[in-house]
Amino acid sequence: MDDVVWARDPTEGFILGRILEITNDGAEVVPLDSKYPRRILPFSDIFRANVEKDKDYDDNCGMMFLNEGSLLHNIRVRYYKNKIYSYVANILIAVNPYKDIPELYSSQTIKSYQGRSLGEMPPHVFAIADKAFRDMKVFKQSQSIIVSGESGAGKTESTKHLLKYLCEGGAAGPIEQKILDANPVLEAFGNAKTTRNNNSSRFGKFIEVHFDKKFQVAGGHISHYLLEKSRICSSHGEERSYHIFYMLMAGGPADLRQKLGLTKPNDFNYLKHGCTRYFTKPDTEKTLSAGQKSSAHVKQGPLRDILIDDISDFKDLDVALSRLGMADAERFQIYVTVAAVLHLGNVEFEENPEDSRGGCKVASNGEKSLTTASQLLGIDPDELKQALVSRVMQSARGGVKGTVIMVPLKIHEANNARDALAKAIYSNLFDYIVSRINQSIPFQTSCYYIGVLDIAGFEFFTVNSFEQFCINYCNEKLQQFFNERILKFEQELYKKEGLSVPEIKFTDNQDCIDVIESKGQGLFTLLDEESKLPKPAYSHFTEEVHKVWGKNYRLGLPRSSKLRAHRSIRDDEGFLIRHFAGAVCYQTKQFIDKNNDALHASLEGIVQESNNKLIQTLFSTSVAQKGKLTFISVGNKFKTQLQELMDKLRNNGTNFIRCIKPNNKMVDLQFEGSLCLMQLTCSGMTSVLELMEHGFPSRTHFTELHSMYKDYLPRELKQLAPKTFCEAMLHSLRLQDKDFKFGVTRVFFRPGKFAEFDKIMRSDP
Ligand code: ADP
Ligand code: MG
Repeated sequence: MDDVVWARDPTEGFILGRILEITNDGAEVVPLDSKYPRRILPFSDIFRANVEKDKDYDDNCGMMFLNEGSLLHNIRVRYYKNKIYSYVANILIAVNPYKDIPELYSSQTIKSYQGRSLGEMPPHVFAIADKAFRDMKVFKQSQSIIVSGESGAGKTESTKHLLKYLCEGGAAGPIEQKILDANPVLEAFGNAKTTRNNNSSRFGKFIEVHFDKKFQVAGGHISHYLLEKSRICSSHGEERSYHIFYMLMAGGPADLRQKLGLTKPNDFNYLKHGCTRYFTKPDTEKTLSAGQKSSAHVKQGPLRDILIDDISDFKDLDVALSRLGMADAERFQIYVTVAAVLHLGNVEFEENPEDSRGGCKVASNGEKSLTTASQLLGIDPDELKQALVSRVMQSARGGVKGTVIMVPLKIHEANNARDALAKAIYSNLFDYIVSRINQSIPFQTSCYYIGVLDIAGFEFFTVNSFEQFCINYCNEKLQQFFNERILKFEQELYKKEGLSVPEIKFTDNQDCIDVIESKGQGLFTLLDEESKLPKPAYSHFTEEVHKVWGKNYRLGLPRSSKLRAHRSIRDDEGFLIRHFAGAVCYQTKQFIDKNNDALHASLEGIVQESNNKLIQTLFSTSVAQKGKLTFISVGNKFKTQLQELMDKLRNNGTNFIRCIKPNNKMVDLQFEGSLCLMQLTCSGMTSVLELMEHGFPSRTHFTELHSMYKDYLPRELKQLAPKTFCEAMLHSLRLQDKDFKFGVTRVFFRPGKFAEFDKIMRSDP
């Protein structure tokens, strides 16, 4: 099949074909399978292929030709054989199987990976966890495992398996158990059903497992990033809000629900526009795949769904919280706070005919909810009412500061104030819970740690807002780090081993990062400046962005406005950024709101003085000053957090796991080529492969090669020193000089040549 090539295809990613004719800048390709049309493709869409029937490779770098086509092929072939993991050198690729693969994560399997080098056993998350553990011991250096991929690709599941390996490797003691207990808690408060993933994490996290000098688990620490706040106040279509709301209603004991005034999701404004179903596991759960399960729930009535189970999850949550040191009273306060958010959401407003300035008042059907919410929050209902429908301002008229005036709010402003309060309560509760978890897993005796990063990958939707902006900025930083570690590391290795390989250039994305974060005029700074103006306006912010960065290649006008003659900013517009993974248009309409974490001062004051100890605690660190308009920048906080994270990553050893989602339907046995290819490209895997194609991707220590093949060779050879042994062995074979190189400690092979060599060795000893 020498003349067979991989030809790009819009649905399959790549298909096999034969070149019919070379044209000026490409070729005409005839697909082997006649169901595909022939096509004329540029050379960049055609790659060499070497497909051996049914053969697959643990390490993609072991293939003969390293290119996008062969990478995708190998991953696809393996996926259908239930081999969801493979490597590209040291990077693990994990394809979400959307079904349970028997024994893949059993304790037995965990044991089989302990102390084995990467590549000795089939590729696995456990192999990466073990490598991190061994590297920590050998290099006396903390390690990070960076898990990336789009929503539903399997990051959180992989993270759980990594933690299980790290915490259960030795038999889980009480600390290990607490670290594992953190997960159901984080998921209850931070995960939600979305259209992409029934258990989608709506926050990023970096979980550190700390080890003492004997390399026993000593404690842990969780940092979290960017909880999605908009979800607290609204859910749409088939999506739900955070699991905890439904778990409490479905699984909370009757007396608790009664005390909290919880009925059913449909009775609450924050939940009723979304999916209001509870999840419970059907009995047949174990025998069905996720896809089958999702059709199963339809048959079994509206209260049945897949994978998560609101009733039993509530019980697990309650147990986990108490094991983490939260006693009955504290757990009760937590549930009270969750319920308060829902009741607050039912406080509606109507126009106040008695107010000549167009103010509003609490609508009659909202009074009861206002009372319940106030009770739960431990605050005075009249004060809450007052704070929701008016804003206290300091008048500076005539130069005299300090005259306090009450400004009545319009209905939409009161709605915003209420939602801002609900969001602040819930997200402060989330912060509180994370800090309580951290308190229960302190790590006084820590020497090193292994940190696992589970954070959303590059995102682009039809409409992209501030959340996507932040997450893509984060991915831009992580990509830079990936380039630094993988590409630089590779070149340093060649240098160290004395191999002369021409230097490989890679596109640095620092210029893109600068547009977003640079001190003077970066987008975050411009946004903060806008927010501090007396009357911030997104249109003005957008204009400023284009004024400052308009000439920069990375920033552009949104596509739609390019067609317009007079390049002004429309309502639905903002700017476009050319990210490493592609161009994304951001709509700036809500940037200012979403970037501000502050409550208006009168609301802040009320919750700070609450009788409810927990509510008081949630707002105790607040910086608001009475009568002053405050602004707390979300973007700036994230920028700082991310910088701290990057500093940690730069100090640690690194391991990467790239998760791939094979289809958007959440079903097993369906591999959509172009979807997977796009993810491999966005995560930088195709460029790593390209780099390897020109380098020496397979490498083995002399000692390892010696022990692998000594039994195939005559006794005289066996006794040679490993390096001499390898030289003798390789020169005696028909391998060409250009196919391998001797380094100081290892032999390096050109793509596919190690496999070839291995075949020769084993076939004619
Ligand atoms: P992400 O965190 O990347 O958004 P998740 O880790 O939540 O994605 O995975 C989404 C769903 O995919 C899980 O709820 C589970 O049903 C399925 N899944 C993910 N990884 C695996 C795996 N290794 N084995 C079986 N099912 C998996
Ligand atoms: Mg997740």
